[in-house]
Amino acid sequence: MNEEMKTSIQLGKIIGIPIRLHISFLLILPLFAYAFATTNTPSGEWMQSHTWGLLNTPIGFGGIGDSLIRYVSGTIVTLLLFSCVLLHELGHSYMAKKHGIGIKSITLIIFGGISSMEEIPPDPRIESKVSVAGPSVSLAIGLSFYFVYGLLEFVSLGIVRISVGMLAFYNFLLCGFNLLPAFPMDGGRLLRSWLAKRMSYVDATNKAVSVGKTFALIMGMFGLFYGGFWFILIAFFVYIGASEEKKATEVTVALRGVKVRDIMTADVQIVKPDMLVSELVDLMFKEKHMGYPVVDGNVIGIVTFNDIRQIPSDKRDSIYVANIMTHEVISVQPDDDAITALKLLSKHDIGRLIVMEDGVMVGIVSRADLVRSLELLGQMKL
Ligand SMILES: [Zn+2]
Repeated sequence: MNEEMKTSIQLGKIIGIPIRLHISFLLILPLFAYAFATTNTPSGEWMQSHTWGLLNTPIGFGGIGDSLIRYVSGTIVTLLLFSCVLLHELGHSYMAKKHGIGIKSITLIIFGGISSMEEIPPDPRIESKVSVAGPSVSLAIGLSFYFVYGLLEFVSLGIVRISVGMLAFYNFLLCGFNLLPAFPMDGGRLLRSWLAKRMSYVDATNKAVSVGKTFALIMGMFGLFYGGFWFILIAFFVYIGASEEKKATEVTVALRGVKVRDIMTADVQIVKPDMLVSELVDLMFKEKHMGYPVVDGNVIGIVTFNDIRQIPSDKRDSIYVANIMTHEVISVQPDDDAITALKLLSKHDIGRLIVMEDGVMVGIVSRADLVRSLELLGQMKL
C-alpha cells in the first residue's frame, strides 16, 4: 500500500475512484510513441503493405510524412491509446461497483491498467461479469474507431485516418490479449470463475495460476528463441502476476468465516492522555506492545511506536500522549469479518483497529493478530 503510493502519481478521480499513473508509465510512453512513429508502413505503397494490422488497419506511421509529423502523431496516438486503457479499467470498475464491490484505485502501468478491488468477488458469476466488462469496452471502442476508419476512406484525411485505424487495431489487440486464459489477464479470471463452478475456489485459483505460469513460460521460451524482447517482458509480467493472484486469494480464502472476535486481543492495556511520552516508552519496552488506545472515559485516540519516533528523546519528558496520539480511531465490531478488519487496515494504512461493542472497547486487532491467525489457519484450511 505504501509502495503503491511511492511508485505512482495520482492524476485525479473518476466516479470516485483514484486514478494513478505508475512511474513505469513515464518510461513506456516515449517507447510507445517511438514504436508508433517508426513502425513501417512503406511510403507510396503503404495501402498494400504487409505491415498492416488486423482487418486492414495500419499499425504505425513509418514512412509517412516527415519525421516531426510522425513523432507528434505517435505521441498523440499513444496518449489516446492509454485513455482507452483507462476506459477498459473503468469498465471493470463500473461493473464491480454495480455489484457492490468497492474499487480502491486504478493504476495505469507498463502493459495497461490494474483495478484494485477491495475484495475478490464472492460469486464466480459476478467475477466473470466484472472480468468481461473491460475487454467488452475495448471491443466497443475498437469497433467505433473501425467504423470511423471506414468512413474516412471517402474523405481520405491521411494521417488522421491512419491514427483512427491504429486506434481500432490496438483496441482489438487489447481486447484479445486480455482474453488470454492466463492470470493476471482478464481471461485468467474468467477461467478461474468457470473452474470455480466445478471445484473449490482455492483449487480453481491454483489451476488457473498454473495455466498462467505455463503460458508465461511458453511465451518466454518463444521470446528467447526468436529474439522477441516484448515477449520476454510480457512473459515475466504474466508470471509475476499469476503468483501475486495466488497469494491474494489464499489470504482472502483463509480468512473466510473468521470473525474479529476470534483473533482480537481482548485484554487491552490502555493509556491516559496525560501520560508522559517517556513513560509510554518504558511501558512499550516492558509490555512489548507497540500500540495503545488512549482512554479518558471513552477511547479518544490511539498512540503507537510510530508517533513516538517523531519526538526527539530529550523532549520526551515534556510532551504528553495527548499531543502525539492519532485522534482518528477506526473501529470494528467483534462480529465483523476478519476480512473487513484486514481491508480497513490496508485502506487506512494503519497497524491496529479498536474493537467496539455497544460503545465500549472490548479489544484491539492488529496486523500481527491477522498474520498470526493466517499462519494457523493456513495450516488447517489450505
Ligand atoms: Zn481488463
